[in-house]
Amino acid sequence: MTPVYRMSTAVQGLGMTSQRARDRLIERLRTEGIGDTRVLEVMRLLPRHLFIDEALASRAYEDTALPIGLGQTISQPWVVARMTEALIEHGLPARVLEVGTGSGYQAAVLASLVAEVYTVERIDELLRAARRRFRKLGIENVRSRYDDGRAGWAEYAPFDGIIVTAAGESVDPALFDQLADGGTLIAPIGPSGLQQLRRYRREGDRVSQETLADVAFVPLLAGVR
Ligand code: SAH
Repeated sequence: MTPVYRMSTAVQGLGMTSQRARDRLIERLRTEGIGDTRVLEVMRLLPRHLFIDEALASRAYEDTALPIGLGQTISQPWVVARMTEALIEHGLPARVLEVGTGSGYQAAVLASLVAEVYTVERIDELLRAARRRFRKLGIENVRSRYDDGRAGWAEYAPFDGIIVTAAGESVDPALFDQLADGGTLIAPIGPSGLQQLRRYRREGDRVSQETLADVAFVPLLAGVR
């Protein structure tokens, strides 16, 4: 199966009025160093304005994080693009775990690139809204769960890719345990104001690490809300 660009016709038909704004955003991402055409094409088609409150929809195609309520944010498009590109650079993972569903936008981007997406969110209200969006957009390969994602999702492990979209002091050992051999994990690490986006790759019992960028994420918190 080749799930790249498996965007439902429902998705392609929605929000066409903002296609020009999306095209401009994609040009900007390209200028800012995003080179993976698969990621750019998916983000060119996916209507980000449907993942935020209507009152903010006019700002959906600015390259900026935006509030989604309950003190949380939808990540900046450049960050979503960079994380996704870093996750798939060494081969498309078949099964990906996301910690921090938030608006559902990152999960939706992943859903049109990989076969199976598993996403965990600790705020029920955000998760419910994200699920409504998946349904509306005809996205069927995202499974979601209300829980503390620091424990991963053991039932579906191992994952070829793991993406953490909230910043912690370190990567929880449970996530490395659930990362397949040869798998890639992307996570922002560090305290507020000093976070770095890191990529970890597992080779047998060894895990290598590299720093990709300086970033600003909301904190990874313990327990459910
Ligand atoms: N990927 C999201 C980004 C949302 S911001 C998007 O595309 O919109 C990060 C999210 O991580 C928030 O919704 C926050 O509630 C959630 N989060 C923080 N700590 C968490 C944890 N321990 N487990 C699961 N979700 C967590």
